[in-house]
Amino acid sequence: MSAQILKALGLDQTNSGTYLGRGEWSKTTDAGLLQSINPSTNEVIAEVHASGTGDYETIVQRAQEAFATWRATPAPRRGEAIRLCSDALRKHKDALGSLVALEMGKSKPEGDGEVQEMIDIGEFAVGLSRQLYGLTMHSERPGHRMYEQWHPIGLVGVISAFNFPVAVWAWNSFVAAVCGDITIWKPSPKTPLSAIASMKICNEALKAGGFPDIFFLFNDAGTELASQFVDDRRIPLISFTGSTRIGRIVGERVAQRMGRSLLELGGNNAIIVDQSADLKLAIPAIVFGAVGTAGQRCTTTRRLFVHEAIHDEVLTKLVGAYKQVEKKIGDPTDAKNLMGPLNSHDAVQAYLGAVEKAKASGGKVETGGAAIDGKGNFVLPTIVTGLSNADEVVQTETFAPILYVMKFKTLDEAIAQQNAVPQGLSSAIFTQNLKAAESFLGAAGSDCGIANVNIGTSGAEIGGAFGGEKETGGGRESGSDAWKAYMRRQTNTINYSDALPLAQGIKFEF
Ligand code: NAD
Repeated sequence: MSAQILKALGLDQTNSGTYLGRGEWSKTTDAGLLQSINPSTNEVIAEVHASGTGDYETIVQRAQEAFATWRATPAPRRGEAIRLCSDALRKHKDALGSLVALEMGKSKPEGDGEVQEMIDIGEFAVGLSRQLYGLTMHSERPGHRMYEQWHPIGLVGVISAFNFPVAVWAWNSFVAAVCGDITIWKPSPKTPLSAIASMKICNEALKAGGFPDIFFLFNDAGTELASQFVDDRRIPLISFTGSTRIGRIVGERVAQRMGRSLLELGGNNAIIVDQSADLKLAIPAIVFGAVGTAGQRCTTTRRLFVHEAIHDEVLTKLVGAYKQVEKKIGDPTDAKNLMGPLNSHDAVQAYLGAVEKAKASGGKVETGGAAIDGKGNFVLPTIVTGLSNADEVVQTETFAPILYVMKFKTLDEAIAQQNAVPQGLSSAIFTQNLKAAESFLGAAGSDCGIANVNIGTSGAEIGGAFGGEKETGGGRESGSDAWKAYMRRQTNTINYSDALPLAQGIKFEF
C-alpha cells in the first residue's frame, strides 16, 4: 500500500528533502537522514536526506533572485500560477490524501480533506489576486490626494507542524504567492514526505505553465538550520505553526531582529452546552471535535462545560458514542476507520502521563484512559470528569484525545471558565437561546479567535481568518483579510496644487 502511494507521487525509498529551484533537488547526503515513520505500525515508510548549510544559502539566494521578478509580475498573472497548482492538486488529491493519512496518521477522509483545503485556498488566492485592495483617504490639504497601496513583503519563511502537514503550507504559500512573495518552507521532521510530494506537484505544474520558482523547501535534521532561518534578516516574515513552547522562542527571536512573525500556536478549546441545546447537534460535534484526528488538531475540543441540569444525560450519550468510535480505531488509510493513531510513541507517553495526572488530581476516567496494545501508537479516546478548570492538566494542551467534562450553573460562569486558560484559539456554544448565543459572541463573551454557535470547535473553513489570541500567538492565516500579513503597506500623498500647505495647519515660513 505504502509503495503504491509513494510511486503515485514520484517518491522513492530515499529522497532529497531540499528543493533548490531551477528544477534541482539537492544531492546533499551528509546533513542527516530523516525517517518518515508510519504511526500505525512504527515502520519506516521512506527516508529523506536533510539539507545542508550550503543548500540553505543556495535557496535563499535563488529565492531573492526570484522575488526580483515575481514582485513585478501583475497580481492576476500570479493568480494564474496558483490556479495551476490548485488544478494539479485536484488531480493528485487521492494519492496525496492517502500519503497524509499514512504519514501523519489521520483518517483517509481527513487526509483527503486536508488536500481539499489546499485546493480551496488556491481558488481563494486566485480571486484574491484581483482584490488586493488599498483605501483612498480624503486629505486635509487642498489639491492633495492620499491613498495606500500594498506591496509584496519579500521572502516568507514557513515552519509547519506535523498535524497539518500540507494545508498549512498552502494557506501561507498560495496567499503569499499572489501577494508577490516567494515562500521557503521548513516542514515538520515527522512529515517530510507529504511536504516533498506537495512541492513536486506544485512545482511541476508551475514549470509546465512557464512560471518561475516561487516555492522552495528545506528539511532540517535538528534545529540548527531552522534557528538560522528564524534569525535570517533576509526573510522579513516567519509564519510559524506549532507548539506554544517553540512558538515563544521563534517569536522572541524574530522580534529581536525586528522581523515580522505570524504565530499559530497551541489551543485549549472548549464547548459550552446549555440546558436548551439540541443534543442531536451537540453530541456529534463534541465527539468529532474531541476524537477526530485522534485529538491532534489545534482546534480539538479539550474541555466541555455542560449545564448541571443535563450533565448526566450528556455524559451518558458521550460515553455511548465513544464506545462506538472504539470499534473504528485502526489503519487511517482505511476509510472505514474513524480514528487513527497518535503520531509518535512520545505522544502516547504524553497521553498516558496526562491520564495519570488527571487521576492524581481527583479526576474520574469515564471511558478510555489506556493505550491499545500492538505495533502502532493507538490509544483509547478518553473522557475525564471530576476536575476543575483550574487544575494544571486541564490548563495544558495535551495533544491527544482527552476530553475534560465539567458542570456549570450559570452562563456567565461557563464563559468565565472557558476563557480562564492561557490559550485562545477556538470555542463554541450549543444553545437555542438567542441571548445566550449573543452573550457568548459579544465583547464580554468568548475571548478566542474563533467562536461558533451550534457547530463545534474544529473543522474551520478557509474563507475566514484562522488563528487565536493569548498564547495561541495572535496570528491570522487563510481567508478574510489575512493576506495583509504577507504584504507591506505604503501610504502615499500626492500634491497636485501649486502650494505646499503643511498638515495640522503648521506654519513654517522663512
Ligand atoms: P512543534 O512546536 O514541536 O514543531 C513545530 C515546528 O517547529 C516543526 O517544524 C519543528 O521542526 C520546528 N522547530 C522545532 N524547534 C525549532 C526551533 N528551535 N526553531 C525553529 N523551528 C523549530 O509542534 P508539533 O508537535 O509539530 O505540532 C503540534 C502543535 O502545533 C500543537 O501545539 C498544536 O496546537 C499546534 N498547531 C497549531 C495550529 C494553529 O493554527 N494554531 C495548527 C496546527 C498545529
